[in-house]
Formats: sequence, structure tokens, C-alpha cells
Amino acid sequence: MKALHFDGQLSLRDVPNPQPASGEALIRVRLAGICGTDRQILKGYSGFRGIPGHEFVGEVLKCDDCDDKPWIGRRVVGEINVTCGHCDWCRRGLGRHCVSRTVMGIIGRPGAFAEFVTLPVANLHEVPGEVPDEEAVFVEPLAAAAEILEQMPLAPGTRVAVLGAGRLGLLVAQVLRHAGAQVTVIGRTGRSDWKLKLAQSWGLNTVRLETAGEVGAHGDAPLQPRSFAVVVEATSSPQGLEEALQLVEPRGTVVMKSTFHEVAHFDTANLVVNEITLLGSRCGNFATALDLLPRDAIHVEEMISRVFPLAEGLEAFNYLESASCLKVLLRNG
Ligand SMILES: [Zn+2]
Ligand SMILES: [Zn+2]
Repeated sequence: MKALHFDGQLSLRDVPNPQPASGEALIRVRLAGICGTDRQILKGYSGFRGIPGHEFVGEVLKCDDCDDKPWIGRRVVGEINVTCGHCDWCRRGLGRHCVSRTVMGIIGRPGAFAEFVTLPVANLHEVPGEVPDEEAVFVEPLAAAAEILEQMPLAPGTRVAVLGAGRLGLLVAQVLRHAGAQVTVIGRTGRSDWKLKLAQSWGLNTVRLETAGEVGAHGDAPLQPRSFAVVVEATSSPQGLEEALQLVEPRGTVVMKSTFHEVAHFDTANLVVNEITLLGSRCGNFATALDLLPRDAIHVEEMISRVFPLAEGLEAFNYLESASCLKVLLRNG
């Protein structure tokens, strides 16, 4: 099959078709999404080698011992963490933290930038008929956005800033607004102007920052330091955390969603003196995300900038680096 392969360099290769292990399904990928984590993997994040890609919608082709449900022919999305099922974390229902987990396209397991992929049947969720592929492919990042609500209570009307108007930031903003928060999306002037306009068209408050690292400097609306109860950092850059710490009010919470290869440096005294909670947040519950999609509360299709055929996957990554875009997808077939 054709696949994108990373071994320090990304290339398009012909590789053997994957063979499903016991309890696994063979899935034909229909559509896959490129996300910030994939770009970080190309910079060295997680030391991953192999086929990247962890956002996908596909169709089950083969599944030898999945007796409980006739999966074959079903359209599915798949949870990306593959767990051992018997360590302490798995037994506590926290399989996403399983000590010996593999993560599709990120840690020790081939990903979805390929014609076919395998996953345990237990990881699959059927996509309802009314949800098109172009929406279903957002389930993984949407679940990651909704994870924040599983980790912390958010009273209606809570003042939330989402730092970063990129793919993840715009999903987080919509999910938290849907949960009743008063959300402001903060982006940079220049390349992210149109992304903020898109957020505005969905009824979200937006603020443009002029200069990196300067919360006080603003483009079109006053932005006071220490003025948000919750700040979600979704900039994909190490500087974002420092800005988030300037924006959050005393006793507030900074939620870190960005995963980047670099190390972030920040003023720990600010964290201590202002009694700020710093909350790391990663993958979430697919069922929650699948529940949100048909409700029109979350706009995802408008975030698709371009769709490339899988065979033009390298061009897709180049496009992502060079253009101001949101979601770039790879279509198989
Ligand atoms: Zn991702
Ligand atoms: Zn485990």
C-alpha cells in the first residue's frame, strides 16, 4: 500500500499492508487529518519513526474475531491509544495513561497516513450516517478539546480565553462556549486575521495580539492582564504558556493543550504567588465528540482548508508549512 513514512525525513513509500493482530480490525482509511502534533513529530517530538497520522475516518474491511458486532463495512473512527488492559491505570479506567500503551501514529504504532491501518476493535466507534466523512475526521481533535470539560468543572459564564486561533484553538473555543463559558479567542495579527474572522462568524469574541509575548499590546480590543478565570494555551509554541500566565487571574487555571518538541520556560514565581493551577490536557472521549458533531453547535467543515490525495501527502505537508491554513486533509482513493 501507499503510505507516508517518517524516518527523519518524510517520504511517500510503498509498504506491506498491515496485518491485524487478534482482536484488531483492518480499516481502509477514507480521510485523514494532519494536525499540529504531526508537524511536531517531523521536528522530533516523541522520537516517532514510521507512518504518522492519528485523525481519520475509515471503513472496516476485515476483522477476524470481533464477535460482538458485525463491524465489517461499517464507517468508523478510532481511539488512538492502544492499551494493555491490565496495568493499574487500565484497571482504574485511565487507559489513556497505560504504562505500556502505543499511540497510533505517535508512539510505537503505524498511523493513518496510509491506505490501510489496524486498530483493536475495542478502540472503534461507528460514525452515525448523518455525519459525513468531512466532519467525522474531526472526532479525534474534538474529543481532545472536550477533554478539558472532563478534567475541570466550568460554571456557566466563566470567562475563558483561548490563546491560539488554529485548528485546536477553534475547536476548544467552540466546545467551551457550547458548555456555557464566555469565550474569547486570542490570535495574532497578520496570518491569523482570517481565522479570527471565521471565529467571529460563529459568534465568538475575538482579540488580536500585535506582538509576541506582549499581552498588554492589543490590536482591536482591550485585553487586561489577569482577566480570565481560565486560559487555554493552544498556540503550539513555547511562548504561549508565558502569555497564558499573564492573562490568567489569581487562583485561575491555565490549560495546556499544545504539544511541542521544544521546552517551555516560564516564571514559576508567578504561578506560586498567584496560586495558578496549571493543567495538562491531552486526548479525550470519542463518544462525547461524536455526540457533539450532529448538533450544529460546532463548526468543523468550515475549518477544512484543502484536501489532498494521499499520493500528494508531501505536498500537503509543504502546503501546511507555507500557507496560512486550518485543517488539511488527505483523501485515500
Ligand atoms: Zn492530533
Ligand atoms: Zn495498561
